[in-house]
Amino acid sequence: MDTGLKDRVAIVAASSKGIGRAAAFALAAEGANLAICARDPGALDETAAQIRRQFQVEVFAEPLDVSDDARVRAFADAAHHRFGRIDICVTNAGGPPAKPFAETTMEEWDRAWQLNLRSIVSFAHAVLPRMRERRWGRLITITSVAVKQPVPELVLSNSVRAGVLGLVRSLATQYGPDNITVNNVGPGYTATERIRNLAEASAKARGITAAEYEANLAKDIPLRRLASPEEVADAIVWLASERASYITGQTILVDGGTYRGL
Ligand code: NAD
Repeated sequence: MDTGLKDRVAIVAASSKGIGRAAAFALAAEGANLAICARDPGALDETAAQIRRQFQVEVFAEPLDVSDDARVRAFADAAHHRFGRIDICVTNAGGPPAKPFAETTMEEWDRAWQLNLRSIVSFAHAVLPRMRERRWGRLITITSVAVKQPVPELVLSNSVRAGVLGLVRSLATQYGPDNITVNNVGPGYTATERIRNLAEASAKARGITAAEYEANLAKDIPLRRLASPEEVADAIVWLASERASYITGQTILVDGGTYRGL
C-alpha cells in the first residue's frame, strides 16, 4: 500500500515515549520528516537520534510542555521555518490522574482541560492556517476508548476527552472544504511503559505478578491482550496517509473490541 507519506512533514506531540513515540517511528518509516516534542529533553533527544539512525528522514526536536500555548505555537513556527510546510499534526499528551469524582480538585480539572483539550486547540490554531494554504492537511488527535465508553475512576479523562470529539467534529466540518481531514484515534489498554509501570504497582498492591495483572486486564478484551503502541501507530499512519483521503470527523478505536456498542 502506497501511503503517499514520503517527504511529508509531520508534527507528533508528546512523542519521546509510548504511543506518540511509536507514531513518530511509524511515520518516519513511511518517509515523513518529523517535528517532535515532549517535556524531558534527554528522552526526546534519544528518540530523535534513534529515528535519524534508523530512517532517512529529518527530525526537528524541541522540549516543551504541550499545555504551554506560547511554546506550542513557537514550536510549530520553528518547524514550519525549518521544513517550509506542515502537512500532518498528531496531538498527544499524558493522561489526567485516575480517581473518583469526590477526590478530584478544581486544580486537577483545570490541569486536565489544559493538558488534554486546550493543548489540541493550541496545535490546531498553529497548524490549520498552514495546511489551509497548501490545501492539504491531516489533524489527528489521540484520546482513549473512554470517549465511547467512559472508564470508571477516569472521570477527568472521560469528561475532558468528550470535548475533544466535539472539537474534532467541528474542525472536520469547517476545514473539509480546504481538503484537511480531522480524526481521532481512541486506544484501549496499550502496553506502553506507563501501563507497564502501572501494572507493576497495581500488581504489587494486590500481591500478584505484573503478568497476572495484565492477564486480568486482558480477560475483558475480546482479543484477549493489550495493544502494542505500534498497533495504535498503524491506525495513525493510515489516517495520515493518502489512503484515508475521504475519512474525516471520525473516531477510530484501536481497542481490541473493548467498546461493545454498535
Ligand atoms: P506514555 O506515558 O508512555 O507517554 C507519554 C508521552 O507524552 C511521553 O513522551 C511524555 O514525555 C509526553 N508527555 C506527557 N505529558 C506531556 C506534556 N504535558 N507535554 C509534553 N509532553 C508530554 O503514555 P502513553 O501510554 O503513550 O499514552 C499517551 C496518551 O494516550 C495519554 O493521553 C493516555 O492517557 C492515552 N491513552 C493511553 C492508553 C494506554 O493504555 N497506554 C489507553 C488509552 C489512552
